[in-house]
Amino acid sequence: MPGRIIAHVDLDYFYAQCEELRRPELKGRPVVVCIYSGRTEDSGAVSTSNYEARKIGIRSGMPIVQAKRIAGSNTVFLSADIEYYESVSERIMSLLRSYTPVMEQASVDEAYLDLSEVVSDFDGGERKAREIKNAILSSEHLTCSIGVSSNKLLSKMAAGVSKPDGLTVVRPEEALDFLAPMPAGKLFGVGRVTERRLSEMGIQTVEDLRSVSPEILKKQFGSSMGMWLYNASRGVDEEQVMDRKREQYGRIITLKEDTRDRSVLVDNASRLLNEVVRQVKADALRFKTVSFLGIMSDLSARTKNRSLPDFTDDFEQAARIMPILVDEFLSEHPGNLRRMGVKVSNLSEDRGQKSLFDFA
Ligand SMILES: [Mg+2]
Repeated sequence: MPGRIIAHVDLDYFYAQCEELRRPELKGRPVVVCIYSGRTEDSGAVSTSNYEARKIGIRSGMPIVQAKRIAGSNTVFLSADIEYYESVSERIMSLLRSYTPVMEQASVDEAYLDLSEVVSDFDGGERKAREIKNAILSSEHLTCSIGVSSNKLLSKMAAGVSKPDGLTVVRPEEALDFLAPMPAGKLFGVGRVTERRLSEMGIQTVEDLRSVSPEILKKQFGSSMGMWLYNASRGVDEEQVMDRKREQYGRIITLKEDTRDRSVLVDNASRLLNEVVRQVKADALRFKTVSFLGIMSDLSARTKNRSLPDFTDDFEQAARIMPILVDEFLSEHPGNLRRMGVKVSNLSEDRGQKSLFDFA
């Protein structure tokens, strides 16, 4: 019994890597993806920078003004295109779900996979992780870093030690040595306040942290954080990979210009629906409800739904409803749309998998 085998998959410098992907001419240049707040031309912060930009000192969270000051003339500043990154992310998350039924998406570019039922030991876990890396590279042309261990904490830390394009396996017998030299404040789950307190107490490394008694930790950090630190420093983390079932699949875009042109809306809706249905199929699900949503020029959001007679994963069937939804939408809501989207919900497992009712 090897216990649990958990993988943490972390896409490398995700937003910036997505930009390199669709603009190959950026490769090799420092790329900085920014979230502009819009108050003044350069107000806002750096969201992600590629490794070339990190080399010259540009990091996430840095004010754009500061990043521009240290940037060379070949540095490319881009405004974040979240819709695009999310569409790439969704395809990758679907791919990851095909490796195990127990998968938890932790953010747009991170997921935990419980491989305990899929592989029998850590060598198997390592092979599976390599397979996943190759699959993401060949289907999406993106690199990721993966950590494999017996729990979420260690896997998250393991994915972080070798980036980009890393694969780090920490077997249970290696956990103590692996963590010992790490900065205690960088244990995943330690917040800024705790980090500061640890350093005030003279605790630098995880090994230092291990020498502190649970009584003192509880007194300093409160009972639950104290115990968490005690366990985490020993590589102990019981947190389960939460298999969160999705309730809907959707896609929203910003229109080139605000409009209420029926054919523009129907064409876009059909294209988006096609992407969404492909996603649903890839996850071996079917849906019953189809929605069209519009965000108007004044930023108010409106939705029209319609349910099909039965669960389906058929694009054509769902697409026939779209013009009806768009017409209803336009007749009920005056004004132009700034953004629009489609969504399918009311999901059910694929027919191939019998539900309890089939046996009733
Ligand atoms: Mg990442």
